[in-house]
Amino acid sequence: MQTNFSATVLEDPQMAASEKIVRTCVHCGFCTATCPTYVLGGDELDSPRGRIYLIKDMLEGGKPASEQVVKHVDRCLSCLSCMNTCPSGVNYMHLVDHAREYIERTYRRPLPDRILRWVLGRVLPNPMLFRAAVAAARPFRPLAGLVARLPGGDRLAAMIKLAPARLPRARHVNEPRLPAPTKRVAILNGCAQSVLDPEINAATHRLLRRHGVEPVSVPGEGCCGALNHHLGQTSSSHTAAKRNIDAWISEMEGPGLDAIVITASGCGTTVKDYGFIFRNDPGYANKAARVSAAALDISEFLSTLELKPTRATGQVVAYHSACSLQHGQQIKEPPKLLLQAVGFVVKDVPEGHICCGSAGTYNILQPAIATQLRDRKIANIAKTKPQIIAAGNIGCLTQIGSAAGVPVVHTVNLLDWATGGPMPRELESV
Ligand code: SF4
Ligand code: SF4
Repeated sequence: MQTNFSATVLEDPQMAASEKIVRTCVHCGFCTATCPTYVLGGDELDSPRGRIYLIKDMLEGGKPASEQVVKHVDRCLSCLSCMNTCPSGVNYMHLVDHAREYIERTYRRPLPDRILRWVLGRVLPNPMLFRAAVAAARPFRPLAGLVARLPGGDRLAAMIKLAPARLPRARHVNEPRLPAPTKRVAILNGCAQSVLDPEINAATHRLLRRHGVEPVSVPGEGCCGALNHHLGQTSSSHTAAKRNIDAWISEMEGPGLDAIVITASGCGTTVKDYGFIFRNDPGYANKAARVSAAALDISEFLSTLELKPTRATGQVVAYHSACSLQHGQQIKEPPKLLLQAVGFVVKDVPEGHICCGSAGTYNILQPAIATQLRDRKIANIAKTKPQIIAAGNIGCLTQIGSAAGVPVVHTVNLLDWATGGPMPRELESV
């Protein structure tokens, strides 16, 4: 695509990077067929190609973001499906990340929007505040339908509906005769997942120990910054990311780490991008690149071990491939192979490349599109007639679990169960 950025604008390294990305696009439109928002609405401006045009026009003119650009960029899920279908290698992720940050700096949103985005950016990354918010929202769950009918109440209703009826606690299980560990890995505790389902990381710890790996929670780590990053709140996301980088580098240089293992693939995509995000920061470029190089999704790390099943399984599992895993990290087969290796019958979901509508805070900020995508996903999953739905990202688990009618379980909880851990709670009442 031809561009017309001025030499002055291109002095900004971020502008230079975005201009390079825009120039790579050859307008072919292959990406449109796999873009969820284009598939739903058929509007060119809600396609990757349309958004690239809008972003190019905004950045090259150095103009403040217009209402039209904000509307269509906000509707993008950052699912990255378009990157998988693009024959030219357009790095849409880095372009839209820059656009979101630029919008945040140059566009004044209506007051209710600003308040909501501020609240999401403060509350979700903070487990203590998030836990309190879930507790506060829970009594209003029966009123969510009423709230949705109030003017502008759809987003508030979406938040209320997503608040789980109860917050589970992690179980502590004693495991006898564990082998002496041969590897040592950091497990990202993160933020929202540790509140919504602490059992995911508890199962990860058990599973790793059982297979000769010492999992550690590194003091000082926390939210990876992804939630703020996708809201364009750069200062908060960089602060969170730098705190994690410092914590992990200190652990690497101290007791040592073989990997940084991440069980929420949305977080994994961001941690793997720290190297790019901080490439121009002299104090963090090297450290961030080291952290990104050490980051692995749990399914990648488990693929290096030989899992030892101890019980018969055989249930039919529909594997929902989170966008952040399949498009963001190009991890497609490993989770399925792991589930098969311990005896589950794994089914691919038709139209599996299309997002479930979760996408970080998308299901709160764009509830109408998110609900359409969720229902489409659940209808496709139902075609596989599963007994269990598995996924590797807390956002997808919450989104699909809100309406699936079939237990929705993190992949590691199933692997833990198959190799000697407790039955996942979601299966106990089935
Ligand atoms: S990231 Fe997803 S929603 Fe956004 S343009 Fe690409 S395919 Fe469409
Ligand atoms: S597929 Fe790639 S090159 Fe073609 S229009 Fe989409 S982003 Fe541009």
